[in-house]
Amino acid sequence: MRSAIVVGAGIGGLAVAGALARTGWQVTMLERADRLRGDHAALLIWPNGVRALRALGLAGGLGAIASPVRTRGVRRPGGQWLVQPDAVDEGFEPSLVVHREDLHDALVAGLGEHVDIRLGVTVRQVRSVPGELAAVGDGTSTWEADLVVAADGVDSIVRRRLVPGCTAVATGCAAWRAVVPWYRAPRLPPDAALGGETLGAGHRFRFALLGERGSAGGSSRGGVYWAATVPGAYRPEPAATQLGLLRRWFADWHAPIGDLLAATEPDDLVQHHVADLRPMPRVFGYPGGTGGFVLLGDAAHAMGHHLSQGACLALEDAATLATLVHQAVPGRTLGEAVTEYTRIRRPRLARIVRQSRRLGAVLSANGALAVRARDAALGLSPRLLGRVSGTVRQWRPPTGSG
Ligand SMILES: Cc1cc2nc3c(=O)[nH]c(=O)nc-3n(C[C@H](O)[C@H](O)[C@H](O)COP(=O)(O)OP(=O)(O)OC[C@H]3O[C@@H](n4cnc5c(N)ncnc54)[C@H](O)[C@@H]3O)c2cc1C
Repeated sequence: MRSAIVVGAGIGGLAVAGALARTGWQVTMLERADRLRGDHAALLIWPNGVRALRALGLAGGLGAIASPVRTRGVRRPGGQWLVQPDAVDEGFEPSLVVHREDLHDALVAGLGEHVDIRLGVTVRQVRSVPGELAAVGDGTSTWEADLVVAADGVDSIVRRRLVPGCTAVATGCAAWRAVVPWYRAPRLPPDAALGGETLGAGHRFRFALLGERGSAGGSSRGGVYWAATVPGAYRPEPAATQLGLLRRWFADWHAPIGDLLAATEPDDLVQHHVADLRPMPRVFGYPGGTGGFVLLGDAAHAMGHHLSQGACLALEDAATLATLVHQAVPGRTLGEAVTEYTRIRRPRLARIVRQSRRLGAVLSANGALAVRARDAALGLSPRLLGRVSGTVRQWRPPTGSG
């Protein structure tokens, strides 16, 4: 039986572990946390992410947990439209917003009963020796397999061992996400009722509705999802202090931003280290042994969150890898599939990283002149944001198998 080790039980790791197990692989999943769970905020699933979930056979229950994001217009902090919603969204399928715990639950359900899940295991060692099976260890035990999938996030230990020259570099912004449950959510003004994005000087705030107030259907964890970005470093203070700062930074912004922050509780906050891999690895698949190592998700291509695509790209990676190895057997064909994975994924990811950095430079404009230039550019070219994210959304899963 073909064997795989998946390091990391984030969205990418869970997706690929389930896909491999469902196609007859013997899968061991190693996760340093002591529970399988998502954070308690939400995320956007773009059409490419939905297609990846579909290719993985996991989109069936999406309708029950996800809500369409109906508007992606951009405003100034005072509330004036910088880009009308229809200019951003024109011609594109809507994206979805889903509570991360709901998505994790769906991915965990997709693992079935055939994944050996080892929690509380922090991988510290990587063995990549010609002629030997790929292996990882935690200092006490060693696990070896035909294929090792490194889905251990931006600080991936597996990537650091395989590609030591590649470093996670802070992007210079701090970011928070939260879901305010419906029972605490403020009344939303009619023109804000569908969500949207607001750009200030280096500061960004976006929100989207997760299900509907008072609706029995929709997400099982409904509410108003928001994400805020400010220039600066990760904030070490207690969550209550961070929330106080957020309320101050966004105090004069248009409704309902202040009310959303007022209704947010410290425990709702999820703060992120936002980092970019520099340089992105030139290779995502390292043939060796009877198969080799593969980098997946943030472990391979972490980037700033300007496109909000990281989880969707991890799902694309998982769907691609599952297709490539579907009929591969340990030895030459599995090694070829590992090489093919780089050939298929790397050019797309390199393009997206460039777009993300360019968009980041536009969206994070700070200082009066830069903000004026950005607002003018968006005013002159209102479809800019839609165009950038549009090319990313237009992904199709590979057909056939390696
Ligand atoms: C503010 C913000 C908003 C975002 N919004 C969106 C969005 O709307 N849509 C979207 O698609 N993306 C979004 N993203 C990006 C997305 O969150 C990430 O790209 C995605 O979660 C990466 O998934 P992953 O599975 O690759 O890694 P992770 O989610 O980081 O999972 C890695 C897993 O590996 C485990 N691990 C790490 N090291 C080890 C080890 N040594 N041994 C064992 N286990 C280990 C960790 O505990 C973790 O469970 C956003 C990011 C930010 C910062």
